[in-house]
Amino acid sequence: MRLLLVEDHPSLAEAVTDALRRAGFAVDHAANVDDARTFVAGTDYDLLLLDLGLPDGDGLDLLGEIRRAKGWPAIILTARDALPDRLAGLDGGADDYVVKPVEMPELVARCRAVLRRPGGRLGTVLEASGMRLDTAQRRVTYLDRAIPLGRRDVGVLEHLMRRKGAVVPRTVLEDAVYAIDDAVTPNALEAAISRLRKAIAQAGCPAAIHTVRGVGWLLDDGPDGAS
Ligand code: CA
Repeated sequence: MRLLLVEDHPSLAEAVTDALRRAGFAVDHAANVDDARTFVAGTDYDLLLLDLGLPDGDGLDLLGEIRRAKGWPAIILTARDALPDRLAGLDGGADDYVVKPVEMPELVARCRAVLRRPGGRLGTVLEASGMRLDTAQRRVTYLDRAIPLGRRDVGVLEHLMRRKGAVVPRTVLEDAVYAIDDAVTPNALEAAISRLRKAIAQAGCPAAIHTVRGVGWLLDDGPDGAS
């Protein structure tokens, strides 16, 4: 799960980022509307967390813009707690509205709740050649038999399966690894890919992970081309 946090308050942004990363989310942080637009143009997010009072614009305008272009779910995070503000936020396309100050466990729970809704991305099952990854349960199976994998490896596999048939850049996969554990070695991603290949092969699943030198990795259905 990849989130974009748009928040100009540095210590709050840091606290939210830390809490979400510890909960297993990959988080990008933009401190203003301009930076947020740059992130939005380059990355596919599962959820937006949006402050309204930003130094170079209003979060509500940004929300409308992103909802029209991308349709991603969004949670507004703001000190504006008057009813007209909350209604404007929800009418503007926000899925939830959280008033500061906010308790981090509650914020994490609300993120999960929005992602579980129909159209939200938590709880979808990804599929490749009979291998299934349940993104809510973090469980991988092949023909209903479990493929045992660590959390970090499941994170990498999720990115590869979401973009099956397309190259996933190294930076995206590294984020998946670092989001779960900051203290990883330089070749942690290569190690994760190698564990994944071995586990998939041992399960008898034909899906294959290909190295695209200098760019990243690609998962496809393998030689049988099933599904
Ligand atoms: Ca602000």
